[in-house]
Amino acid sequence: MTGPIIQGWCPGALRPMMSGDGLVVRVRPHAGRLTQAQASGLADLAEAHGNGLVDLSSRANLQIRGVTAQSHPPLIAGLRDLGLLDASAEAETRRNILTTPFWQTGDAAPIIAAALEVALAAPDAPDTPAKFGYAVDTGPVPVLRAASADIRIERAGAGLILRADGMDRGEKVTQENAAQRAVALARWFVDSGGCPQGRGRMAAHIATGARPEAATEAMAQTALPVFAPGPTAQGLLLGPAFGQLSASSLRALAALGNLRATPWRLVLVEGLRDDPALPEMIARPDDPLLRVIACTGAPGCPQALGATRALARALAPHVPQGEVLHVSGCAKGCALPAPTDKVLVAIQGGYGLLHNARASDLAPQHFTFADLSANPDLMFETANAP
Ligand code: SF4
Repeated sequence: MTGPIIQGWCPGALRPMMSGDGLVVRVRPHAGRLTQAQASGLADLAEAHGNGLVDLSSRANLQIRGVTAQSHPPLIAGLRDLGLLDASAEAETRRNILTTPFWQTGDAAPIIAAALEVALAAPDAPDTPAKFGYAVDTGPVPVLRAASADIRIERAGAGLILRADGMDRGEKVTQENAAQRAVALARWFVDSGGCPQGRGRMAAHIATGARPEAATEAMAQTALPVFAPGPTAQGLLLGPAFGQLSASSLRALAALGNLRATPWRLVLVEGLRDDPALPEMIARPDDPLLRVIACTGAPGCPQALGATRALARALAPHVPQGEVLHVSGCAKGCALPAPTDKVLVAIQGGYGLLHNARASDLAPQHFTFADLSANPDLMFETANAP
């Protein structure tokens, strides 16, 4: 069995990635927010130029699936009309900014995110690796620490700090200079050798002993929050199973309010209080489908060695409350790099089962789709081989 292919880059709108069901076109909303007009326009584009399916990504982006070489140019024109396109593929790649979805009008987060977008669009912006990203996480408590980012802007005490991922200290910044200092930190990362051969992440660079100057302020110590569908002060959080929704569901959401994308594959509908009872959208935190995670799998992903979502749906009611099952189409584990209670990894002829592990860990136990569908308790009766 050959290992999964690590692409080392993420798709964009101008630089789509081929998948089993066609091109994947990733759209990066500005500061994670789509106006109602943008969201319903995106739904129209997904139907007209893709296969009508839209993914919510762990980078708080939306991915239009099933695009062809012929439908890509009119899709790009439509995204430009909606104000959702960057000037170039390079600018799009650099604009890898996660913004806390829990901001109120006048808060620092959207202001800093907008300034960072402008700074990263400059022709002399640092040439960081494709996956290098920023988290603007300036709410009362940080909510994005579990999400991938290389440079983080957070609240610490009464002020803001700029922190290299992997460090527990950062530089004191203000709302006015945070974006400029973030770009300076990215430049330090490049200049100090953080990305040999054009690849590399900040935490790995810090682990080698590299240290930026001025990182003297301690970060806030808080528990990692867990997010589930339900009401928030800014609106209702809800999401589709496996983070994938139809264009018609996206259009229905757009009719309810402006949308904020999150890295938890949930959408926040601004100002909404009550469950709109949309067929595809999960609005209850105890829905069993929230206990399973599954990537595209076969046939949508060319690297997949088996189906994922049908099996995850079948097994979801059997996963105990408080536990998570990850079904992965191969050992790459795209849907979740972190460990979970149970992991099923598709391998030639069946699935490997792991406990408290990542999909990329060795899979010592082997079952077929039929085994698991007929007897879901197999998952709970076995343990990892020594
Ligand atoms: S983990 Fe899933 S989506 Fe990622 S490459 Fe493997 S099969 Fe494809």
